[in-house]
Amino acid sequence: MKATTKLLQSIPVDELTGAISVPIYQTSTFVQEAPGVNKGYDYSRTGNPTRQALENIVAELEGGKVGLAFSSGLAAIDAVLRLLQSGDEVIAVDDIYGGAFRLFDKVYKKFGVNVTFVDTTDLTQVFNAITPRTKLIWLETPTNPTLKISDIAAIARLAQQLGVCLCVDNTFASPAGQLPLSLGADIVVHSATKYIGGHSDVIAGVVVTRTQELGDQIRFYQNACGAVLSPFDSFLLIRGIETLPLRVQAQSRSAQAIAAFLLQHPLVAHVYYPGLPSHPGHAIAAAQQQTFGGVVSFVLTDDSVEAAHAFVTRTRFFNLAESLGGVKSLIAHPATMTHASIPAERRRLAGVADGLIRLSVGLEDTEDLINDLQDALSASTYKGAPLAPQLNKQDIQWHRSN
Ligand SMILES: *Cc1c(COP(=O)(O)O)cnc(C)c1O
Repeated sequence: MKATTKLLQSIPVDELTGAISVPIYQTSTFVQEAPGVNKGYDYSRTGNPTRQALENIVAELEGGKVGLAFSSGLAAIDAVLRLLQSGDEVIAVDDIYGGAFRLFDKVYKKFGVNVTFVDTTDLTQVFNAITPRTKLIWLETPTNPTLKISDIAAIARLAQQLGVCLCVDNTFASPAGQLPLSLGADIVVHSATKYIGGHSDVIAGVVVTRTQELGDQIRFYQNACGAVLSPFDSFLLIRGIETLPLRVQAQSRSAQAIAAFLLQHPLVAHVYYPGLPSHPGHAIAAAQQQTFGGVVSFVLTDDSVEAAHAFVTRTRFFNLAESLGGVKSLIAHPATMTHASIPAERRRLAGVADGLIRLSVGLEDTEDLINDLQDALSASTYKGAPLAPQLNKQDIQWHRSN
């Protein structure tokens, strides 16, 4: 059976009524025949049939043993971090999602959990950061917004040899684009708000574990801390998952065409997309991902906030908004939106230039999307200085190959 057939087969038909879509069990509690005698459910924080169906489907989708659904991506990340104790150390990817950085830096640090941020695209840096207290390696690949690629299998081998747990935030690739557990990771987390939900209508998170034991441990924290996903939102995720592979394949195809278009445009200085052979992580992405994903970032030759703001407010089909992964295309300016809280110096070190623009490619027609970008690029409404007159073609080539 091929993956998409298996996915649709994993969505159960309701045994009681034959309903082909998973019913929303909008209930807080379940009537018991006698104390402790029930039909498998007693209270919806602990377990709910709609959420359970979703959890089974995402476990299947990621090729893991246990799936767990949470009320946001950050709640899912938080549930994994509860495995740690005071004195434990974590090694994390240096351009980690801002909310995860805040959780480590402002919440877990005060409980004595210390994090070392390293460039995980370099295996040596990961190796050198490991100490006897390291308990967890935290990866994102591709990262946000410069789409850096880390070698999951190589880092998993290292983690296994040293008895360290490896968790991958797989939000950007989605389970249709990358399966970290099959590459040796122990845990996968998602902001299901993005590709898994896919329609920009729900905030949700999921965790999938390779082993039953790890799943049971995190399930304990799911129930003990309580940030569970509601039955209705669980239904919305199941509905989104039904078309996940199709959506991600189409979005990736469009993103590849858009990246190629931007790369040859004279007003674009740099394009970040793992599907481009010039991307430093291209070979690893090609080996470990099934698709290169629907996010493309780029820098205009006029690398300024003003030029970027003029551009992001000029597109017609790309709506200016945070988030990604939905069916409608979005455009964002990370320096003044998603990454605004990061100090300017740290932001630049992470490659988030003032003029960097991030696209989340949706399901509109590829040609329309390219024309939209073409029109926005050719509109001569750039305010202030002319477009980086000091840059000539040769410089642009240099930028691109770096
Ligand atoms: C959005 C996002 C999160 C946080 O998820 P929420 O659903 O917003 O809580 C975590 N990791 C990555 C990579 C994200 O893009």
